[in-house]
Formats: sequence, structure tokens, C-alpha cells
Amino acid sequence: MAPKIDEKVEPIFQEVLARNPGETEFHQAVREVLESLGPVLVKHPEFCHHKIIERICEPERQIIFRVPWQDDQGNVQINRGFRVEFNSALGPYKGGLRFHPSVYLGIIKFLGFEQIFKNALTGLPIGGGKGGSDFDPKGRSDDEIMRFCQSFMTELYRHLGEYTDVPAGDIGVGGREIGYMFGQYKRITNRYESGVLTGKGLSWGGSLVRPEATGYGATFFVDEMLKVRGDSFGGKTCTVSGSGNVAIYTIEKIHQLGGKVIACSDSNGYIVHERGIDLQLVQQLKEIERRRIKDYLNYHKDARFVEGGNIWDVPCQVAMPSATQNEINGKDAAKLVKNGCIAVGEGANMPTTPEGVKVFLESGIAYGPGKAANAGGVATSALEMQQNASRDSWTFEYTEQRLQQIMQNIHQLCYETAEEYGTPGNYVNGANIAGFIKVAHAMVALGLI
Ligand code: NDP
Repeated sequence: MAPKIDEKVEPIFQEVLARNPGETEFHQAVREVLESLGPVLVKHPEFCHHKIIERICEPERQIIFRVPWQDDQGNVQINRGFRVEFNSALGPYKGGLRFHPSVYLGIIKFLGFEQIFKNALTGLPIGGGKGGSDFDPKGRSDDEIMRFCQSFMTELYRHLGEYTDVPAGDIGVGGREIGYMFGQYKRITNRYESGVLTGKGLSWGGSLVRPEATGYGATFFVDEMLKVRGDSFGGKTCTVSGSGNVAIYTIEKIHQLGGKVIACSDSNGYIVHERGIDLQLVQQLKEIERRRIKDYLNYHKDARFVEGGNIWDVPCQVAMPSATQNEINGKDAAKLVKNGCIAVGEGANMPTTPEGVKVFLESGIAYGPGKAANAGGVATSALEMQQNASRDSWTFEYTEQRLQQIMQNIHQLCYETAEEYGTPGNYVNGANIAGFIKVAHAMVALGLI
């Protein structure tokens, strides 16, 4: 049975279901936060009076638009673009853009909702938003990607600004796409407004450590959870799902901290390499050549590829889901725990279903939910904005140090909040409550807007 929503909060959740039909991922994300909030309303009755939960569940603004573009054969293609500007109580809307065929409003709203609390946890002045398109970049040429990005930005630009809304990357959106979008923004507005997008290339306003930040940050978070238990990554066998931006830098940091990653994946299946994943090869295949993870076998005969398989079948001590939402269900979670997994750190957003979360919490393993564990990406985006505002660029070492400090602070805040609210060790409650309270206080202070 899923944890219950407090009776004062339940009618609000029912209203969210009724007002947002069919948006199952959004319902799931809202439910998970609302389950934590009962005790908060007891301590803070003013949040009821100000209808903070009702207001926080309703985006401030939602933009849906047509994205017409031409493919290499001269055919006209039409996609749908989204930007959900969810909450700006703490700062300009901030959150990535996702290009994936599964994108629809419910996915963007779940991601935007999570982003509000995640951004609050970073302690940096950023509100929450998210966007994207149902465009599928797989198999598209650079020219097609450029034409799509230009068309997408031709509509989106009017809603952006360094003090208004600052997108970044997510699934299917990396440095190449940010470059094309930044170029088009600059062309339309005639302004070199670096702070309007993050994840930029180094020579045109980007920050060192931004590509690494989500993966490094998630690994730092797990390291903190292990430290609390008198443990470390040293000698641990790990699995990391995905082989994109977050996965690659998670693998790198785990190796630096003395762990060994033996499996990673893409949407076709997973690779197991007991000697340890050859990260340079994964980077070459995925970041540079944009090939499939299966091609890893061409270079390492002692690895194996399981087509269509489930990476959570591979026994490990630390699991770091870094691909997509709902990739670990209740059975997967139970299998991981049974096979000796002692820590899970979510690089991806909402990668564990409610049944899976329940298994992790009940088993007592260290479980770091995405909105805390993967906040390092957006935190470093905010550091990129700081560098842009001061026309400065920081060294790799200094920026990584700032990232690590932020992740340590987030861990401590979640840990202490979980204790304060009577659920020690429950980082889900810690993250939901600490993030919510920060935004709620700001919303009360700013009046009814
Ligand atoms: P990338 O596009 O770089 O990589 C995504 C990886 O996950 C690829 O290996 C992809 O495989 C796999 N994947 C994507 N969708 C699916 C699916 N439906 N089923 C199986 N595998 C899938 O994205 P990122 O690494 O940037 O993002 C990964 C996760 O991390 C997402 O949940 C994202 O929201 C989250 N995140 C990202 C941040 C960032 O800074 N980039 C910040 C915070 C969270 P394939 O190539 O086969 O599609």
C-alpha cells in the first residue's frame, strides 16, 4: 500500500487529478510530494490559509506551440513545443528542455513540478520550470537538428530572458542543441544575453563542470549518504543506467572515488563488463559518434550485451538510475535489495515508481531521491549564470568545489529535516519538506500573486 496523503491534503490532490486529466506522471510527482506535507501543515497552519499547496500545484504559465521545420529530404515536419513556467517565487524559472518522442504536457509538468523543490534545495535564487518537444533527435543529421532548434527558439525566445526564464538541457538536449538555440536567440533579439540559457559551450559563455555536474553531484550525494553510515564508495560494485550525459559523469566520479561500475545501458539493452566499464569508449561511442551502447562489444570481447534486458538484474552494491522516469518498479527494487544493494542515488528524475520507492524506504537502504540527488546540474547552471552576470569564468577546481559543497549542504538539509519531522533517514520526506517550506515562505512573503 502506498503511504497515505493527510486528510487535509487529500482534497487538494483530488482537485489536481480532476483538473489535469490523463497526466499520469504529473499526478505521480504531485502525490509523492503531497504525501510528505501533512506534518508541515500542523507546524505551519498559515500555509493552509494562504492556499500554498493549491497554488504550488498550478503552474504560473504554460506555453504550447507549433514547431514546423524541414527535413533533409525537403519534407515539412511538425512537432509540438512546450514550456511550463511553474513557480518563480525564488527566482527566474529554471529547468531543462527535453527532446524525446514520449514528451507531452504531463511529462513536462511532472518535471517542472519536481524542479521547483529541487531548485529550492540548492539554496540558489532559481524558480522552477521545464520544457521540451516530442521531436525525436535520433538518426537526424546536424542540419536537421539545427533547423528544428531554430524553429523551436523562434517561438520560445519571447518567453525567455536572464531575469525571466532560463532553460538548459535534459534528455536529447546537450551542448550542440543549446548552441543552435542560443545562436537563434541572439539573432532574433540582437542581444548577446549569455544568462538566457545554460549548458553553453566554454568559448561562448559556458561554465566548466556544467557537463559533469549532474553525474558528479549525484555521486557526491551518495557519498554523503554512505559517510553517514560509516561507509564509502571504496571497492563497491555499481550499476548506472543510461549512457548519456548524467550516466557518463556518474561513472567517471564513481571511478574517481574508488568504486567500480560494471554495467550501463541505453534504450536497446545493457552492457556488463566485470572488469569495469571503459568510460573513454562509452564517451567516444555516445558523446562523439552518437552510436549505440551495443557497439561496446566490438572493442571488448570480455563484455556482454543483453538486448532488451533489465539492468537491475545485475547484482550491485550501489545503483544509480540515470536514464529516465519509472525505470525501476517494485520488483526491480526488491531484486536490487535482495542482491545486496545498499544505496540508490537517482541521477534521473523520478526513475523509481511509487512501489519501488516503498521497497527502498522499508528496506532501510540509503535512498537518495532525484530532486535532492540530481540537483547538482541545475545548481551548476546557476553558477554558470553567476559567471555570466559578472563576465567571469571560474577554474574547474573552484567550480567543482562549489558543486561538492552545495551537494553536502543539500544532503545535510534533507537529513536534518527528515529527523526534525520524525522520519530519520527518509530523504524523500527530507527533500520534499525542506524544498516545500523554502518556497512556501517566499510565496507567503510575496503576497497573493
Ligand atoms: P541524455 O539524452 O544525455 O541520455 C539519456 C540516456 O537515457 C540515454 O542513454 C538514453 O538511451 C537513455 N534513455 C532515455 N530515455 C529512455 C527510455 N525511455 N528508456 C530507456 N532508456 C532511455 O539525457 P541526460 O543524461 O541528460 O538525462 C538522463 C536523466 O537525468 C533524465 O531523467 C533527466 O531528466 C535527468 N536529469 C538530467 C540533468 C542534466 O543536467 N542533463 C539534470 C537533472 C536530471 P537512448 O540513447 O537509447 O535513448
